[in-house]
Amino acid sequence: MTDSREGLLSINLQSIADNYQDLVTRVAGGARCGAVVKADAYGLGMSHVAPTLYRQGCRDFFVATQAEGESLRDALGDDVPIVILTGVRAGAELECARAGLMPTLFTLELLRHWVGTCARAGLEAPCAVKVDSGMTRLGLSAEEFEHLLRDRELLRLADIRMLLSHLACADEPQHAQNIRQLRSFKKAGQRLRTLCPNIQLSLANSSGIFLGKDYHFDIVRPGSALYGINPVPGTPNPMRPTVTLSLPIVQKRHLSQEQSVGYGATQRMAAGSWLAVARGGYADGIMRAQGGRGHGWACGRKLPIVGRISMDSTTFDISALSAKERESLQSIEILNQDLTVDEVAQYADTIGYEVLTSLGHRYFRRYI
Ligand SMILES: *Cc1c(COP(=O)(O)O)cnc(C)c1O
Repeated sequence: MTDSREGLLSINLQSIADNYQDLVTRVAGGARCGAVVKADAYGLGMSHVAPTLYRQGCRDFFVATQAEGESLRDALGDDVPIVILTGVRAGAELECARAGLMPTLFTLELLRHWVGTCARAGLEAPCAVKVDSGMTRLGLSAEEFEHLLRDRELLRLADIRMLLSHLACADEPQHAQNIRQLRSFKKAGQRLRTLCPNIQLSLANSSGIFLGKDYHFDIVRPGSALYGINPVPGTPNPMRPTVTLSLPIVQKRHLSQEQSVGYGATQRMAAGSWLAVARGGYADGIMRAQGGRGHGWACGRKLPIVGRISMDSTTFDISALSAKERESLQSIEILNQDLTVDEVAQYADTIGYEVLTSLGHRYFRRYI
């Protein structure tokens, strides 16, 4: 039995819109809700997702790179603020400013260079500045931030619109790091605001929104929660799932004797077992670590993944299905509302973010 279709990845834009509105409600009265659409909207397609969010009222967009910012600018038009979270490419400052993209600058040297380069070219150069409040990734150190506050000339010339910082442990509400970072960021924000009164403050990612109002400041920056990943791990997911991934079955087999399955002959199946080999493997983002541990979903049931996952195919144990179900079975879902991104991530020893951003380019994509 063969099937020529590729896997089908269905992306529910309505669920993404609903998730956005859910977050808007949670920050209402305090902050604006932005959206992080980096990495092609976490693999789901920025050119579909960003206009959907725009129609929901989102007016603050965040991407990781300048190239992402340029394609987002094309998708959204000229008037929407777009922040590039990892700064501007050296030598590409003028293109960045001309495209109206706001780089996040995380050292004084980068800030000075940005301000000087754009001023010499006579370009407006709004930007965001990132301060490190404890994540120890990108951001001005405490000492550098003091220098910035003292450099009145730089503050006068620089058009700093936003002060950002990022939480390291927002998905662990009890972690003491959260409150430490909150205090540090709040203080930095208050001090900079006395010198730049119009500056907007932004700290919270998806999980940060759920830490409470104190964390919201002026703009929140959710990514994962928009795409259905649970922002509050260990408690029921308040977000809607957004993806269904269905793999076509390309061969079904009945074992007449006990046999090993797949590369490395790592798993043996008993005589009488029924197997289904589906198109789609680790090259399509079906994480290899799920081999022998993960599941697919069909006929309202979980079906175990058997043996190692190959580059282009995955084998499932379908012995639990009735003869009739087996015969009519044409595809197996590997992500859906019952088999969520977070659950799949657990089988693969990773996080939902990696599951989504790894989804390959070989699927047929359908937007709902
Ligand atoms: C990716 C990212 C976000 C979004 O984080 P989620 O956990 O996906 O909500 C927010 N801020 C920064 C700086 C990021 O890099």
